[in-house]
Amino acid sequence: MSQNNSTAAIRSICVFCGSQTGTHHDYSVQADRLGRELAKAGIRLVYGGGNIGLMGVVADAVLAEGGEVTGVIPQVLMERELAHVGVQDMRIVESMHVRKALMAELSDAFIALPGGLGTLEELCEILTWAQLGFHHKPVGLLNVNSFFQPLIDMLDRAVTDGFMRPQHRDWLFVADDISELMAHLRRIPAEPVSDAAALHKLT
Ligand code: AMP
Repeated sequence: MSQNNSTAAIRSICVFCGSQTGTHHDYSVQADRLGRELAKAGIRLVYGGGNIGLMGVVADAVLAEGGEVTGVIPQVLMERELAHVGVQDMRIVESMHVRKALMAELSDAFIALPGGLGTLEELCEILTWAQLGFHHKPVGLLNVNSFFQPLIDMLDRAVTDGFMRPQHRDWLFVADDISELMAHLRRIPAEPVSDAAALHKLT
């Protein structure tokens, strides 16, 4: 999995983020900024479809700027995560596994914002799929308030202790600000066809 410097047209980005807003205002501020930047850049947001937490903040921000949003939500979570009624394209799916596979298939790149177990699970899974060669799409995280530092340290430790290859660790781009993150995602060549068949075998 080599990364090069050719530019790519990213048309859609999947954002993984918390179903809560967190205790610090910065989390919502950055989620809102990211959503607005996506809309201004003409990039479709793909996300979990909820109207709660940072998920709701980022979707609202894209919609407020006139951008496009695809939500992917399992039927069982439609009430609990308050499926967003303003989203133009809402896909209702049968399971969490199908949700993740479809979000991956519909997206050219992935961004993680702060969140809890669900966010960490989604981020780690998309990185393991890259490690296994099921996709070659860029993955970045926005390290708001150094929220992800313990995870970054853990991954670096996994490399140091011989559990992870450096190139797999390097697939995760860590950014402190949104423009740096977007510039990185644009540097990775677009992958026209995801290995959707491989992803679906995992569901
Ligand atoms: P959280 O980060 O825990 O607030 O969850 C953020 C999003 O991840 C929510 O939409 C959750 O439904 C979703 N989520 C939670 N657990 C999982 C899981 N095991 N697999 C995929 N998504 C999950």
